[in-house]
Amino acid sequence: MTFTFCPKCGTRLEARRIEDRDRPTCPGCGFVHYNNALPCVGVLALKQGKVLLVKRAVEPFKGYWDIPGGFLESDEHPYVGAKREFLEETGLHIEPTEVLGFFMDIYGEDEEPTLNICLLARVTGGQERAGSDAVGLEWFPLNALPDKTAFNWERQALHLLAQRLEVEADS
Ligand SMILES: [Zn+2]
Repeated sequence: MTFTFCPKCGTRLEARRIEDRDRPTCPGCGFVHYNNALPCVGVLALKQGKVLLVKRAVEPFKGYWDIPGGFLESDEHPYVGAKREFLEETGLHIEPTEVLGFFMDIYGEDEEPTLNICLLARVTGGQERAGSDAVGLEWFPLNALPDKTAFNWERQALHLLAQRLEVEADS
């Protein structure tokens, strides 16, 4: 999110050096726009060495494969958001099992910074069906993932998971 005017009082913002960065700051009321990354959650549900991806029906990255997930609500715990988003997008209930990692990325035309929490999970029930934002669902083996993956962080997460499972298989 970028602001030209203060969202609190409407004064034009000025760049000021605060904590080693130039930040849009309001000379009227003192508001500082920190532009913190938006928290998002992604879920890699695992079944017999395969992960479930959804094909996006909407921009950005319409037609690309995506890790089920999305933006967290302001007061939402990542585990709660993970269950909600996964159910909306796939029709399936999950139980998160562990954190795979944290991944930085940018989103959309405004290049909003995002902080993506990637969870591993197991499916506990439900009926598999694509949600309204998706045109398809598919379980992919980690050594045969689709080329067109929507976001940079997703390629990093899938790569990390594939590496980890290979390591586990070897040990
Ligand atoms: Zn202000």
